[in-house]
Amino acid sequence: MSAIDDLPPLRDVIAAHALAAKKSLGQNFLLDLNLTAKIARLAGDVSEADVLEVGPGPGGLTRGLLAEGARRVLAIEKDPRCMPALAQISAAYPGRLEVINADALDLDPLAHLTPPIKVAANLPYNVGTELLVRWLTPPEWPPFWQSLTLMFQREVAQRIVAAPGSKAYGRLALLAQWRSDPRIVMDLPPEAFSPPPKVNSAVVHLTALPTPRYPADPRTLNKVVATAFNQRRKMLRSALKSLSPAIEAHLLDAGIKPTERAEQVGLEAYCALARSLDAK
Ligand code: SAM
Repeated sequence: MSAIDDLPPLRDVIAAHALAAKKSLGQNFLLDLNLTAKIARLAGDVSEADVLEVGPGPGGLTRGLLAEGARRVLAIEKDPRCMPALAQISAAYPGRLEVINADALDLDPLAHLTPPIKVAANLPYNVGTELLVRWLTPPEWPPFWQSLTLMFQREVAQRIVAAPGSKAYGRLALLAQWRSDPRIVMDLPPEAFSPPPKVNSAVVHLTALPTPRYPADPRTLNKVVATAFNQRRKMLRSALKSLSPAIEAHLLDAGIKPTERAEQVGLEAYCALARSLDAK
């Protein structure tokens, strides 16, 4: 474990502030500062950006982001026990780290950030997925963020990057791939964390596209995809019957065989179907 700054090793920080991991907050900490620096580098050049970090915990990734030269980091952490450790980091990087003790699901961070903005987080997977969906469905596109660098359970990471025809393919893949470019950029075994979780993890990097890959109304597309995957084993002509009495014609208009199933159809065709339904 090499020093990326003059602060104490994370094991000492955790001991000094009695930060025994809480399962209820999904606390699996990264203690190797080489690893957190590597994850920070996956966020790209942060020297000209504000970074929103959600769930900093004892601050391993926070220290990585600051050591990599982030212009400013805004860290939102729910656990008040982490505040003294994070204050120590803030003091070591004057004016560059703001910490807010809050639930990231309740707080709008935008008032605290100046564009360009990148997001980095190692969160419990349910909070991470909920935030990812919110970040992918803002009222306006392009969104407030340039990129998201997020740790997930590997199984969730695979759902984000999945291609048609695979078991992991579904709403999350279509939502992520419509307006961003998601890639799995790092795999981590359970031993990378303390305490180790039961499953493997992966870092997903998503870059926001300036405009959607294919035109479609977001609400119609969301409805089409949700309805299709709610009954993923049914043929689309029957799974999507509730959307229009003329669904077969709309499917054919979009270049989709009415006998295909949800997981066989690609993003471009779903967008064409949403446009066809809106044009009726
Ligand atoms: N980033 C640290 C690391 O990599 O070692 C901690 C990661 S740990 C998996 C998740 C962190 O998210 C914990 O510190 C936990 O307290 C925090 N957390 C959990 N739910 C949260 C929420 N809703 N809002 C903000 N932070 C949350």
